[in-house]
Amino acid sequence: MALKPATGSQATVKVYADDGWPRTIPNGFGRGIVYMGRQAVDDGFYPPRIAAHELGHILGLPDNRNGRCDYLMSGHSSPTSCQSTTPHSTEAAQVRRNAGGGAPATLTRHRVYADCFRF
Ligand SMILES: [Zn+2]
Repeated sequence: MALKPATGSQATVKVYADDGWPRTIPNGFGRGIVYMGRQAVDDGFYPPRIAAHELGHILGLPDNRNGRCDYLMSGHSSPTSCQSTTPHSTEAAQVRRNAGGGAPATLTRHRVYADCFRF
């Protein structure tokens, strides 16, 4: 996926930085708001991995707290030393299915993924 700059209100993904915990408010596939909360950065999590995780929510992926570094959606369950920003093959396959219209509405609409990196 490539992100392109948008003009004005045309942005489908908005990314903000604040002092809270990272969280995402998806609004359909490829749409929503990401808050890059500084708290997880302060706790030592790798910022590019946080961004990749939150954008995973934008693409319809749920949290999967399996503790594995090779899964983007493991979030805070993986150690702070984890710097992987590549989705697991199963995550990539799910995004491809979601892009084809297969995302369950409950995963992509009106659900807030909060404190994904919180202990
Ligand atoms: Zn999450």
